[in-house]
Amino acid sequence: MARILKPGMNAQTKLSIQESVQQTVRGIIEGIRTQGDAALRELSQKFDGWNPPAFRLTPEQIEAAVAQVPPEQLDSIRFSLEQVQTFARAQRASVHDVEIETIPGVTLGHKVLPINSVACYVPGGRYPMIASAIMSVATAKVAGVGRVVAVTPPKDGQPYPATVATMHLAGADEIYIMGGVQALAALALGTESIAPVDMLVGPGNAYVAEAKRQLFGQVGIDLLAGPTETLVIADDSVDAEMVATDLLGQAEHGTNSPAVLLTTSERLAGEVVTEIERQLTVLATAEVAGQAWRDYGQIILADDAAEMVRVADDIASEHVQVLTRDPDYFLNNLSNYGSLFLGPETNVAYGDKTIGTNHILPTGRSARYTGGLWVGKYLKTVTYQRATREASVIIGQHCSVICEIEGFAGHQRQADLRVERYRQPAQLQ
Ligand code: NAD
Repeated sequence: MARILKPGMNAQTKLSIQESVQQTVRGIIEGIRTQGDAALRELSQKFDGWNPPAFRLTPEQIEAAVAQVPPEQLDSIRFSLEQVQTFARAQRASVHDVEIETIPGVTLGHKVLPINSVACYVPGGRYPMIASAIMSVATAKVAGVGRVVAVTPPKDGQPYPATVATMHLAGADEIYIMGGVQALAALALGTESIAPVDMLVGPGNAYVAEAKRQLFGQVGIDLLAGPTETLVIADDSVDAEMVATDLLGQAEHGTNSPAVLLTTSERLAGEVVTEIERQLTVLATAEVAGQAWRDYGQIILADDAAEMVRVADDIASEHVQVLTRDPDYFLNNLSNYGSLFLGPETNVAYGDKTIGTNHILPTGRSARYTGGLWVGKYLKTVTYQRATREASVIIGQHCSVICEIEGFAGHQRQADLRVERYRQPAQLQ
């Protein structure tokens, strides 16, 4: 039986935080719905101290931002962009149109079509997350989305040049500087100055994730990609420094980012606790990471690898780092996770920034029912059908019976009319 050595935040406290976020978000969305641009300006001033002449950047402003980024930084941005594009292109090639003949004369098919317009939210409250621009904007372009809008909050009262440059290099068609719920609501609902999009995509804090949840239906969303979570699965083959580094490396995302250690080694668990305290004395982001670890961090002791799989599937963490003798055991047996990092040679920071898999991943246990962002999220499969006259008669007869059972007289008439028109004289006897 798994034992909890360090508990995370209790469920009641989590729930009351969630309810207060829901209420705030509802109010902001209503403001944008009823007052459009006026509310957008007021909320942007209130939350981000930002009230520019226009939220959308001009081509000249974009060019000026790109020019401010040092060439070696642009090189690394381009490298990461290429890795994400290469993987996304391969994934796009794996999605095909389908057409089959189910019975003689009946042809059914689906076509894969890109969504027309999307808004890619790039977080920027605490850190300017330029890698998120690569993940969402470049992937949308590979999928063939026509209008890709990129949006991010200001940083210290200004557009952040590297974020704007990355959005531009990734292929954004429009770039807006505005943040949080008001930005997403304006893009989903439209305002006097902003044309609405069909879908909202991208990660963000609890307010951003909740805004997407509440706006879903009005527009599509990719998934709920809220505050980052990480789970480290470790046995006694790994040292405490590696484990503590991988836990704090993700806890630094925000004070509400859970980092969980699941291990079969009680000795390792004890050493990790000490090592985390040591690393917190030197890590530049210790204030955030330390609070996240104290409030949300957890250590769970399991009996064996099979129990670690059961516990990990129940947690359904966004990231799972496997630091054991046989990482492939977890690849073969785990089913609920956003992305899996197999062995110490790779890690979540690689996935977050550079290696090429998408870092926009499910949180809050939504990995039970969805994977992360990929080209497929920007595509829809639409179906079509056709039939020969002979096949129409066969389908029509069965259809008529089902309509009769259901009491759908109008549907039945649609079927019966075809049967009457297309039945061959020979079939009349
Ligand atoms: P953010 O851009 O998501 O949020 C900043 C905005 O939040 C601000 O512009 C402001 O408008 C709004 N806001 C802040 N406080 C508010 C309040 N009290 N009421 C209403 N609105 C408020 O940036 P962030 O805060 O730095 O968060 C980024 C988040 O993205 C982190 O939690 C990180 O873990 C997460 N993330 C998740 C993934 C994923 O795939 N799941 C990937 C990357 C980042």
